[in-house]
Amino acid sequence: MEVYEGKAKKVIPLDGNKAIMEFKDDATAFNGEKKAQFGGKGTLNAKISAHLFKLLEGKGIKTHFIGIAGDNRLIVEKLDMYPLEVVVRNVVAGSLKKRLPLGEGTELPEPIVELYYKDDALGDPMINHHHAKILGVSPEELDEMERIALSVNEVLREYFNERGIILVDFKLEFGKNARGEIVLADEISPDTCRFWDAETKESLDKDVFRFEKGDLVSAYEELYRRLAG
Ligand code: 5GP
Repeated sequence: MEVYEGKAKKVIPLDGNKAIMEFKDDATAFNGEKKAQFGGKGTLNAKISAHLFKLLEGKGIKTHFIGIAGDNRLIVEKLDMYPLEVVVRNVVAGSLKKRLPLGEGTELPEPIVELYYKDDALGDPMINHHHAKILGVSPEELDEMERIALSVNEVLREYFNERGIILVDFKLEFGKNARGEIVLADEISPDTCRFWDAETKESLDKDVFRFEKGDLVSAYEELYRRLAG
């Protein structure tokens, strides 16, 4: 396994079944069209992800998180990654506004799960289980990912709700470990979730950068403070 460098993270394989996941200060949006750097973002995302992975592990959800290896680095289990993004939505925002005749902020009667093919050249298109099968992902594997994604949603939604934060939507990625188990991977951070202050509906996530809503690092710090404080 070679070093993998993505837009916001680097994965450095170690001997055996472990790897280092390093969070960068780089931010990109709109399929890489918008770029910037924010000092401290990598460390905040590593801390937030570690905190949430520990929470999920405590609730019996298998994740790739093993430990913390420095400010912006986590030790994770090496996985064979699925080329998919699994999005869960509780409230209408972002690209869902282009699919349903519902305004931003409308609470959904039940969570929606969406599937995307992770491919920069194609712009991460939305796909269904037929496309996934051609990509080598079976309906059984998809069912398992959807089941885990909805469990993650239940745990995180309640946890954030207790802290005055609405979990609007989020993106998960999965991989398969050496034992053939499907494991939650990647990160869970304000780069990959939408979080709104329950009172003010202010964004505490990457929408601050996407739509120039203020200072990204202050928003991520505020989120971390409420999460762990
Ligand atoms: P939307 O489809 O509305 O743009 O995104 C839905 C949710 O998934 C948001 O919380 C967004 O941050 C996350 N998401 C979807 N695709 C990506 C992606 O390619 N990268 C990251 N970091 N997050 C994504």
